[in-house]
Amino acid sequence: MIEKLKELNRNLPHISTWLKFDRLPWIIAGPCSAESEKQMLSTAKALAGSAHVKVFRAGIWKPRTRPNSFEGVGDVGLKWLRAVKQETSLLTTTEVANAKHVELCLKNGVDILWIGARTTVNPFVVQEIADALKGTDTPVLIKNPINAELGLWLGAIERIYQAGIRKIAAIHRGFSSYEQSQYRNQPHWEIPIELERLLPNLALICDPSHISGDKSLIEQVSQMALDLGIKCLMIETHIEPDKALSDSKQQITPKELARMLKRLRMPEAAPADKQLKAQIAHLRAAISQTDTKIIRDIAERMKLVEQIGRLKHEHNIQVLQLGRWESLLKDHIEKAQKSGLDGEFIKAVFELIHAQAVNKQL
Ligand code: PEP
Ligand code: MN
Repeated sequence: MIEKLKELNRNLPHISTWLKFDRLPWIIAGPCSAESEKQMLSTAKALAGSAHVKVFRAGIWKPRTRPNSFEGVGDVGLKWLRAVKQETSLLTTTEVANAKHVELCLKNGVDILWIGARTTVNPFVVQEIADALKGTDTPVLIKNPINAELGLWLGAIERIYQAGIRKIAAIHRGFSSYEQSQYRNQPHWEIPIELERLLPNLALICDPSHISGDKSLIEQVSQMALDLGIKCLMIETHIEPDKALSDSKQQITPKELARMLKRLRMPEAAPADKQLKAQIAHLRAAISQTDTKIIRDIAERMKLVEQIGRLKHEHNIQVLQLGRWESLLKDHIEKAQKSGLDGEFIKAVFELIHAQAVNKQL
């Protein structure tokens, strides 16, 4: 699999060869849904003046969780996307969820297609879309699947690549979860980071609107994305968010977007200043030393585990001692919190350590 991904990575052109923006961060903006020609054109015209915005988004076929909610305007939206293109020279993008959508978009000159989170989870549908794209060089943006699984995201990217498409980017829009959280979709940044490690040439776009679910969080999520080196954001923008027929709470006006763009910081990839470079190198060396200590301590812990495992085996004692594990966990979480660490984080670390310790004794 790694060899296949390496080849895919080698063949991806840099996003700047097929998407031209004037200023960082690059912004894809527009409403969650196309609602009327007037809404589309007034939003697009208000966005078109920004050097950051070169692509206009609008969903025309909307995947909604429940029926009888607004499911998009359908084919007529293609005409409105054409009007946006003619009147503003913005590129256009919309979501495709089956082969028919792809055909209609290609026929109507939609510049870029995106695959939504509810589609990325379904390899049959992704394959159908990939087959419909064969022989074209349409750019495709692939959102992460709804559930926090990298494999499905990679699989969708591979299917589109195997159809001959090379202008591919991935959109991180967060992951659905039962856990209570301030986010509509939790970011789990480690997943897009792992995607970037496996496919460093693949452009990553962040969609702070669907991660946040509420406009009050969009700016901080956008800044987090920029701080992680992501250079392109897809932000839902509506001329009258309160009246939006879908995702009304998470949409901002073009004016609010412009103000937010003034406040966002674009970080440097690496320090240029000599003194700062030295300071960072010094701290990195200290961090590496601490990591070495942690590894040594874990190795020592596992040796003790092996000894206790042998003793239990010799005397026919059960490996898993639930009471001991429970009190250990409680104790570690308390200690961690006293040291200013997040209890949940330490719990996750020790769950991994304990699982390995139990396995070693079996
Ligand atoms: C959208 O972009 O409007 C959308 C439906 O997104 P997602 O697939 O991320 O839910
Ligand atoms: Mn939306």
